[in-house]
Order: sequence, then C-alpha cells, then structure tokens
Amino acid sequence: MTADIIDGKAFAAGLRARIATEVGGLATRGLVPGLAVVLVGEDPASKVYVGSKERLAREAGMISTVHRLPADTAQADLLALIATLNADPSIHGILVQLPLPAGLDPQAVVMAIDPAKDVDGLHPINVGNLTIGAPALVPCTPSGCMMLLRDRLGDLSGARAVVVGRSGLMGKPMAQLLLAANCTVTVAHSRTRDLSEVCRTADILVAAVGRPRMIGGDWIRPGATVIDVGINRLPPEPGQEKGRLVGDVDFDAARAVAAAITPVPGGVGPMTIACLLDNTVEAACRAAGLERQR
Ligand code: NDP
Repeated sequence: MTADIIDGKAFAAGLRARIATEVGGLATRGLVPGLAVVLVGEDPASKVYVGSKERLAREAGMISTVHRLPADTAQADLLALIATLNADPSIHGILVQLPLPAGLDPQAVVMAIDPAKDVDGLHPINVGNLTIGAPALVPCTPSGCMMLLRDRLGDLSGARAVVVGRSGLMGKPMAQLLLAANCTVTVAHSRTRDLSEVCRTADILVAAVGRPRMIGGDWIRPGATVIDVGINRLPPEPGQEKGRLVGDVDFDAARAVAAAITPVPGGVGPMTIACLLDNTVEAACRAAGLERQR
C-alpha cells in the first residue's frame, strides 16, 4: 500500500480563499474583521510565523496589526496593551505569539485576553466551553487537523483515535475535538507504556510530540489515517545551511502502511494560520451578532 498524501497546503489555500470571499461579503455589511498579533522579543521562528499571519490576514481582506515589543517588556506593559486591544472595537481577534521571553508569565497573559477575542483558544473559558460542548474559539492547529480528517474520512463516529502528546495547545484540544466527533480517544504521552502497541490500535493517529520520526512504520495500523503535527528541524547535512524539516512520523515507512498521511512540511502546518483567520471571522461575526455566511 502507498498512502495518499493529505495536501494541507492546498486545503489551506482553498480555506483562505473561502474566508476572503466571506470577508468581502461582511465588508459590504460594514464589518471588517480585525486581527491584532503581539510579538515580544526576537525569536526567529516567532518572527516568521507573525509575519505570515500579518500577510495572510491582509490578503484575506482583514484589518491586520502587529505590535512588536522588545524582549525586556514589563509584564504590566504587555497587560496594558492587551487591555487596550480588548477595548478596541475594530479588533476582533488577539493573539500573543508564544513562547514569551523569560520573565513574562504566559498564563497571566492568556488570562488577560477577552475570551471573545481569544483566537488562539487558550483562555480557560474557551477551553472549558470546548470541553462541555458549548460554542468556543478552538485552538487553530487541532481545528485544522479536524478539517483535514473530516475532508478525508467524512463521519468519524466510532473510529479509534490515538493522540500522542497532551499539550494544552495541541494534544488536549485535539482529543476533545475527536471525542466530540464520536471517536474513541486515547491520549498518549511520555509516560505511556507500550506506546507502539497503543499507536497500532489507531484508525486515526495524531502525532504531536516534537521528536523527529519517532513513530515508525511498524507503529501504524494498516489502513490508518495519520496526521503528523510535529515540526522538527534535523541537523544540516554537510554543505547545507539549514537541516530539513521532518515530522514526528517516519514518513517513508508510514506511507507503506497507512491509507493516508499528512506530509511535513505542507500538511498540518499551513492549516494553522488558515484556522486563525477563520477564528477571527468567527469572533467578528459573534461580536456583531451575525450568522456566518459559509
Ligand atoms: P509540547 O512540547 O508542549 O508537548 C509535547 C507532548 O509530547 C507532551 O505531551 C509530551 O508528553 C509528549 N512526548 C514527549 N516525548 C514523548 C515520547 N517520547 N513519547 C510520547 N510522548 C512524548 O509540544 P506541542 O504540543 O506544542 O507541539 C508538538 C509538536 O507539534 C512540535 O513538534 C511542534 O513544533 C508541533 N506544532 C506544530 C504546529 C503547526 O503545525 N502549526 C502548531 C503547534 C505545534 P508529557 O506531557 O508527558 O511531557
């Protein structure tokens, strides 16, 4: 068997195009969704992510602002900026790029964001609403994984899903979304015993660990759908400036066993920003009391 490639890049481009059309429609009704991203410090990867978020939000027709603050910004100043953005009616989504420099408390920062504008879905109100099945702003990466799974598999009811990783940003909300879609969900982590056997039970395997190619082909149930969230940079080969990006799954080995798999790069990664734009439109529509025009 050679697994089909789940083309997240193409899916994300289509989603962004649909969002741009929706934003155009909202603009004619006087509502322009606004996204504010806050970047503290000079983390190179964060700078790239923030630049992409700003550009793609603009391309979708939104108001897009980036607040770049120095690494030695005081917690009180960051909280004051968030308070200003909370009160700004032209801003519907606020995202503080993580990780924050040492000395800043990410939990306090997340707590300070108005839950109605929390487009990263990390505020406890949104986490709680997701858990009880109430309307919530859902973290972007797991939301993107669900879109790819639904597009590929349709109804997920009854599927055995294994999520490897239990972070608040990825593993936990992913498990909640799969549970809400009527999967039977196992969440595995660094203390899980017989991890390879647990993974082999999965019709749907989601890897969100951060360890290059940890999941081998023999960990995968024949015919499974594999969603590889991991983004890991290998050391550079001789003569190369940068090492290549790989996922948490050994792609070539998995391709011989699975029915479908997301590549790295070009799988889950592009979905994250598309879902951020989607969350911003969602937040804007809710704030204005409008039904989504999807
Ligand atoms: P975290 O480091 O927050 O969490 C990693 C999880 O993996 C933890 O729950 C940890 O378990 C578990 N883990 C670590 N080692 C093992 C092991 N040997 N066996 C089983 N489980 C293990 O990472 P994130 O959830 O934030 O991200 C995970 C990966 O996804 C990273 O590569 C990241 O770059 C990528 N990512 C990609 C995104 C995108 O595509 N846009 C967005 C977000 C993340 P424990 O809890 O026991 O420590």
